[in-house]
This record gives sequence, structure tokens and C-alpha cells, in this order.
Amino acid sequence: MPATGKPCTAADLEPVFCKELIRQELDNDTAQFEIPREIRDFYRMFRPSPLVRAYFLEKALGTPAKIYYKFEGNNTSGSHKLNSAVAQAYYAKAQGLKGVTTETGAGQWGTALSMACAFFGLDCKVFMVKCSYEQKPFRREVMRTYGAEVTPSPSMTTEIGKLINAEHPGTTGSLGCAISEAVETAVKNPGYRYVLGSVLNQVLLHQSIIGLEAHAAFEKLGERPDVIIGCAGGGSNLGGLIAPFMGEKLRGERDYRIVAVEPSSCPSFTRGKYAYDYCDTGRICPLAKMYTIGADYIPSPSHAGGLRFHGMSSTLSELYDQKLMEAVSVKQTDVFAAAVQFARVEGILPAPESSHAIRAAIDEALKCKAEGREETILFGLTGTGYFDLTAYQAFNDGRMEDREPTDEDIRLSLEKLPKVKE
Ligand SMILES: *Cc1c(COP(=O)(O)O)cnc(C)c1O
Repeated sequence: MPATGKPCTAADLEPVFCKELIRQELDNDTAQFEIPREIRDFYRMFRPSPLVRAYFLEKALGTPAKIYYKFEGNNTSGSHKLNSAVAQAYYAKAQGLKGVTTETGAGQWGTALSMACAFFGLDCKVFMVKCSYEQKPFRREVMRTYGAEVTPSPSMTTEIGKLINAEHPGTTGSLGCAISEAVETAVKNPGYRYVLGSVLNQVLLHQSIIGLEAHAAFEKLGERPDVIIGCAGGGSNLGGLIAPFMGEKLRGERDYRIVAVEPSSCPSFTRGKYAYDYCDTGRICPLAKMYTIGADYIPSPSHAGGLRFHGMSSTLSELYDQKLMEAVSVKQTDVFAAAVQFARVEGILPAPESSHAIRAAIDEALKCKAEGREETILFGLTGTGYFDLTAYQAFNDGRMEDREPTDEDIRLSLEKLPKVKE
């Protein structure tokens, strides 16, 4: 805990999080959790999600590699976030809560949570990072259509929001700051808890449905991936996609290469430090040991997509630290070039976040071509990009910029890591 430096307990977390979700978060022993029937019934609306062989992309690249993608964009929220949203809303309702609060960056999580809350009859308060709120008015409208209340962050409705606005006038906001506002609102309103769409162990657990389905589909096909690639913001889709494969790897049954892809404008794995850090700018959440570029880090406003969290899932951080996983960072203009190439041959208009994985999958397939090597590549196509057309427009107009932090930016941000004895 930030105040005491002691490991947090279920009791510490109860004012903030739902009980069952805390149990899942702190459970280090249960290998598999039964998915409640209500959640499975909801999943039937859009799952199993398709595992697609990208024949047209393979042909366009002239690669001997086989490319598969697991497509999570076939639902109104347009991303994998709905997998965890419905689980979290279900457990909140089961606990008898009135509503939940959350933050949203690019907007997919807020949309997914609004859908899940509408289904289970829960109130939903969303703090949306200000620059996304302004760039994506239609996301906000989808959330409101599903009954959510959406506030741009930093707002003047919370103490922490007022403080951040005073310290950084005109700030476009960050996920860390929206998290602080959502937590404060949950704690101050009886019958409300805070829910988070990524980073936490419980979210990776809910997202493991992606990997379980992909694994079963590969078994049916009699194939298996050699390389598994996913974009990494907080790490939930990648953690979910690799779950059963990583299990086999850890048990020594099979080997896979696993690659996390992150934006060069928010490079927590590739340029960050493995250390305890705050999860939110307001420093009220528990600390986590993770790869981080510092809780105060705010990516350049020219950065279009999500994947803007300063840290990374602690589960994935440990796997990366133990060299069980690799990471690469990619520039956003290269990401959009891959998105356009993919859209033109495979039909799907990908989300910018997902396109990080597309970029890395294309690069891997081209490497196979150069080396005359056959290989099976699986990547996570986490969502669609219909709400990201401002970014596509900037790319199509040739106005998109690549802004990376300097070493000095990162050094300054990491200087503010909390001092923790391990
Ligand atoms: C949120 C999001 C991501 C990144 O989050 P992770 O927790 O790292 O999976 C990636 N793609 C899409 C479409 C998203 O909405």
C-alpha cells in the first residue's frame, strides 16, 4: 500500500473493488475458475470469436508463413474488453451494488462496461481521458445510449481532478489521472465500486477465454502456432490470448515464442524499469511491481490510439523479466501503414491498438519470407477502428507524427518512482 509499504489485503481493497473480483485478484492457487452461467449466456451473443487464417494477407506479402488472427471486434463495443466487462458487471450485481465507476482512455472499455451494466441493470459512471473525449464524441454517445454517465477527465467533480487541473492547466488528461478520479468517486458514493478494464490479474483471467478458444481451435485444425503476437497496453488481451499456451510453455510441454508489441510513444516494456510503481497519478491505488515508465508519464497528445498506460500487467512483467516473453516497440506511422495494408486485403478496419500486433505479425511474416522459413503466426486482432477515423484521417492526409519520449523524459519520470524495500 502506498501509505504503509505493506502488502495489501482483501480488507484494504474492499472499499474500492467488488468482493469476488478481489478474491480472484489475490488468488495464487486456483488454476481454473468456472465461468458462471449468466456470463456464458452473455458470451453466446458474440462468442466463440473467429480464428481466421489471413490467406489474403499471406498472398499479398508473398510469405511462406501461415498467419492466423483471433478477431475480438465482433460486438458493439468493438473490442475484447466486453469479455471482462460482463464478468465484472455480473459480480458487482451479484454483490448487490448500485453501480460502478471506471476510467476509459480510447473509449472501448467504457463502451464495453456500459453495455454490460445495461444488461445487468447497474449504474455506470465513466471518466474519459479528455483528449479522447474530444477526439471521439461518438464513443461518448454510444456509452450514453447504453445509459452511462460520461465525464471528461481531469474534471472538476473530484478533489484529485481539481488538483490535477490546477497543477497542469489545459492538460489533455491521462489514464492514470482518470483512474484516480474514478476510484475517488467509487469510494465516496455508497453502493459503488471501481472496476478496471486491464492490467489486473482478474482481467487477464477473464480474457483467458480468448486463449482457451484459440487453443481449442488450433487443436481442431491439427495445427499450432510457433509465434504468438499481441499488442500490449495494460496487457489484458495478450495475457488472455497466451494463457493456455504459456501454461504449456511453463510446464515444459511445448515451446512458443511470445511477443508483446507496444507503441514507441509509451514504451513500458522496452524502455521502462521493473519496479514498484503507483498505478494512478493520484497515488491512491495499491502499488504494483511492473515494467513502468513512471506514473506521471503522459504520452504525447499526437499519440492516437489507446495503449497509453504507463505500466504493465504484473503477471506479464514477471514473464518478461524471466525472458519467457519478448517485447518490441513500433512507431505509429508504421502501425497505421500496417492497418491500411491489412484493411485492404482482409476487409476488417482494425483498431489502432490491434494494428500494433498487425505490424509485428507482418514484420515477422516478411522475415520468414527473407529467410525462406515456414512458420505459423498467431496474432490477436483485438478490435475494430470505426471510432478512430480522426487518426486514420491524420494518417491518410500525411499529417500523422511519431513522437517518442527522450531518455531524459523517461529518466525524469522514473526518478519519481516510490522508494520501496523488497
Ligand atoms: C484496450 C484495448 C487494447 C489494449 O489493452 P490490453 O489490456 O493491453 O489488452 C488493445 N486493443 C483494443 C482494441 C483495446 O480496446
